[in-house]
Amino acid sequence: MTPSRAVRSWHAELAWLPGQGVQRDVFIEAAGDRFTAVRAGAPPAAAPGTVRLHGLTLPGLANAHSHAFHRALRGITQAGRGTFWTWRERMYQVAGRLEPDSYLALARAVYCEMTLAGVTCVGEFHYLHHRPGGVPYADPNAMGRALLQAAAQAGLRITLLDTCYLAGGLSAVGQPEPLSGPQLRFGDGDARRWADRVQALAPDAHGMLASHARAGAAIHSVRAVPPGQMQPVVAWAERHGAPLHAHLSEQRAENEACQAAYGASPAGVLREAGALGPGSTMVHATHLTPSDVELLGGCRACACFCPTTEADLADGIGPARALASAGSPLSVGSDSHAVVDLFAEARGIELTQRLATGQRGQFSAAELARAATAAGHACLGWPEAGEIAPGALADLVTVALDTPRLAGATAATALESVVFAATAADVRNVVAGGRDVVRDGRHLLVEDVPAALSAAIRGVLG
Ligand SMILES: [Zn+2]
Repeated sequence: MTPSRAVRSWHAELAWLPGQGVQRDVFIEAAGDRFTAVRAGAPPAAAPGTVRLHGLTLPGLANAHSHAFHRALRGITQAGRGTFWTWRERMYQVAGRLEPDSYLALARAVYCEMTLAGVTCVGEFHYLHHRPGGVPYADPNAMGRALLQAAAQAGLRITLLDTCYLAGGLSAVGQPEPLSGPQLRFGDGDARRWADRVQALAPDAHGMLASHARAGAAIHSVRAVPPGQMQPVVAWAERHGAPLHAHLSEQRAENEACQAAYGASPAGVLREAGALGPGSTMVHATHLTPSDVELLGGCRACACFCPTTEADLADGIGPARALASAGSPLSVGSDSHAVVDLFAEARGIELTQRLATGQRGQFSAAELARAATAAGHACLGWPEAGEIAPGALADLVTVALDTPRLAGATAATALESVVFAATAADVRNVVAGGRDVVRDGRHLLVEDVPAALSAAIRGVLG
């Protein structure tokens, strides 16, 4: 995605601005990929060529946790009952079939679904590295590069969270198990070889892989990376100023096995390895002890919630309010893509807290919107995105307020209407880095996104 240097301007009927809330008649100007001016109360007939945005305009949404290929399982894993672990078996079957070309086609279509939903940056938690059986491709990063290309073709930024995945799990008594079957594709052997492969992606001094892509690192989980192998991943992330993500305490079984193996909670193990800090993001953070909450909050580690996936997989409800109060920023992700709808994820944080505690109003709409915007971009290594403000990356998402779901919304509570009632289908226009990607609900780079999704999914399901 090469940003053009052109000056562009928009006039938003309503826009959500940092520190000001929802404002009327907002004139927004960008040069190239950055905002240069933002003024509320501007007359609608401003500069010639100004694009009118009807509805509520938000900053670009950040999908902080994605496994693109899981999208192929939507619906299929809803049939019958099943558990997290039977879902994982189905996921492994799809993982076993993908090759760089089919991965590119599937990820491109999924990223188009995301941009149609208002996402301008995705954090792809990527562990499908090698050929079936575990032999590297001629380019050992062929699968990662397919994701970078997919994001460019879909018109959004990506942080490639290249994931270290070395063990097949922990037994009930806490023994690391070897990778087997489809998992063989995930493994680099050890963390040093992981770092050598990721280094071959050739990030620049700022961790950038391309103008639209940034390098990130991930420790899959305490199930998949023994503590002695975490340090090289942490060191690589620090050296490149790269965000570091990990799945944390998604299932009770993980906590029990971790305690049996290492005598500590997963958060405790990650802290010992130096993996908790303001540049790290813990995904799910579901089954935490009060001291885990203190650990994460105390070091300002971000907590990424994926409420639709967590509900779908019956994971449980994480202590979102306690984490935020302890100091952790919150972000959101669509993870397994049971649905791709960041509004559902954002309000899911609040609605699950209500169900768990019997109390309403734990988060304001603005706090939930920040999780889906500024906090999400920041946890992916793009702190310059996620606000409509001069100097920020020029991402805009306009939500129509005349749809059946949102008709009747008032200016005073437009943000509440959108956060608590909008769906991805209400997104009308998306600008990413100053460039139009979605106009009037239509993707401008891939003509027929549903057809692209169908073809890509048919291709991998056989
Ligand atoms: Zn995940």
